[in-house]
Amino acid sequence: MIASLLARSRAFAPLRVLFLAWLFLVWPAEAAERFLVATANPHASRAAQEIVTMGGSAVDAAIAAQMVLTLVEPQSSGIGGGAFLLHYDSETGKVTAYDGRETAPAGATPDMFLKADGEPKGFYEAVVGGLSVGVPGVVRMLDLAHRDHGKLPWGRDFGPAVRLATLGFRVSPRLHELISADSHLKSFPAAHAYFYDAAGRPLAVGTKLTNPDLAATFRAIAAGGARAFYEGPIAEDIARAVRHATISPGTLSTADIAAYEAKRREALCRDYREWRVCGMPPPTSGGLTVLQILGILESFDLSALQPGSVEAVHLISEASRLAYADRAVYIGDSDFVPVPVDAMLEPGYLAERAALIRPDRSMGEAPAGLLQDRAEAPPPSEGYEGRSTTHLVVVDQDGDVVSMTSSIENAFGSRLMVRGFLLNNQLTDFAFRPTVGGRPVANAAAPGKRPRSSMSPTIVLDREGGFRYAVGSPGGSRIITYVAKALLGALDWGLDVQTAIDLPNHVNRNGRTELEAGTALEAIAEPLRALGHDVVLDSLTSGLHGATRAADGTIAGGADPRREGMVIED
Ligand code: GLU
Repeated sequence: MIASLLARSRAFAPLRVLFLAWLFLVWPAEAAERFLVATANPHASRAAQEIVTMGGSAVDAAIAAQMVLTLVEPQSSGIGGGAFLLHYDSETGKVTAYDGRETAPAGATPDMFLKADGEPKGFYEAVVGGLSVGVPGVVRMLDLAHRDHGKLPWGRDFGPAVRLATLGFRVSPRLHELISADSHLKSFPAAHAYFYDAAGRPLAVGTKLTNPDLAATFRAIAAGGARAFYEGPIAEDIARAVRHATISPGTLSTADIAAYEAKRREALCRDYREWRVCGMPPPTSGGLTVLQILGILESFDLSALQPGSVEAVHLISEASRLAYADRAVYIGDSDFVPVPVDAMLEPGYLAERAALIRPDRSMGEAPAGLLQDRAEAPPPSEGYEGRSTTHLVVVDQDGDVVSMTSSIENAFGSRLMVRGFLLNNQLTDFAFRPTVGGRPVANAAAPGKRPRSSMSPTIVLDREGGFRYAVGSPGGSRIITYVAKALLGALDWGLDVQTAIDLPNHVNRNGRTELEAGTALEAIAEPLRALGHDVVLDSLTSGLHGATRAADGTIAGGADPRREGMVIED
């Protein structure tokens, strides 16, 4: 009304100018959403911020952050690895799942990780060298997501990483610590030359490190698109490094690399109390197992219990046992083996599973549910502490959201380094024993197959389809329990995202109950033992990063104090 009055009268001309100027200043601030990014490294968070400030989307920002993480957090993730990305579109309310998981080469066989005597190789014997390297999926997955949701030209998203690789960054305490703890990097000349000083010592904290090879690789992909990575000299160098590795050469070929496809999949969404929780479908077990844990816990009033209390930890541990029992037998790459996804998430089935939980006694090792014919589970593995992998969250100014977990699997992956980046060892996420009792297991290796993951990028919506919460974590097969903790903290206990992330970690993968050492949980070790839990204390170094939007539109982020992450809000 005021605007049309001002528009009509000549006498109001100066006022009109003032009004328009005021509108110009105020309108964008009111209409634009705020921006938020949480990644595992300050350089990566700043790169995402820079890209969004230039008008980029959440996907553009995620690309910029992933490229910088390849450089500054090389132990965790990178263009030599794979990732899963969930995207929330604020206009349609749709959550889409992008699968950039590595694939096994055509030369892969179910018994590739068995020794001549038929027994499985030792873990590091399998990890280090060429045999464990799958076709990297990150670049093609980001390309696919960018085609759907990019706002800036693809090449521009590489700007911050090219700059930093050229000008250099300072080695962080965590990078230094992980180089120092590693005994395999020195076996390979490229990694040896990059991660150690002239005297052969691990690069000290604060050392300025440049990576001109990686800058050149980024420039090639920025200019030539994903194709520059999957065909031509970069792909040839990857295949050569794997096939001619001095330790455990593999079969990965340029044909395997050229054939790689990222997949757009239907996100796995289920109701949990008054929310809708969306995760990644197989080949990760993350989405399914997180949703099973929540679905089992829905039979209990968690909000009546205290987080970290004996009762709550007992209940969550028992629900986790049941979910991990199903995970072990049923989950593999659903493009290769039938995974009974709907049956596993059917509310009646989950209520039956919940009825197996006794408040006064641990059930010990949980049996898998009888959902379909299957091979028995390989014995639950306690696994290694996941020190690799990274999770990032971006909320852009349109309100679109990315929740992405990315990994080269073990810290520094296979240790093979090509053109400034490390190659993954993701194939060791396949079952080493391909059969149990003479029957094939769901997660046995096969050509073109994707190894089962635990990565659990998650997005939670309200019942109107509005974005409420995004979270995820590294941590190997413990990822699922870390993410469940952060979800329960926010959804059942109403904690803000940072407090939910800070809650002490506890893990049960259908074996021991692990409690985070040095936290208040130590005090409940004895009472849990009295309930029959086999309790151990461990460091449980999650790397949870998350963002929430409250009903009033306020956004907030959280970064895990256990690693080196940073939240930037603008
Ligand atoms: N390779 C693991 C997975 O895909 C992640 C490893 C880690 O978090 O350290 O589940």
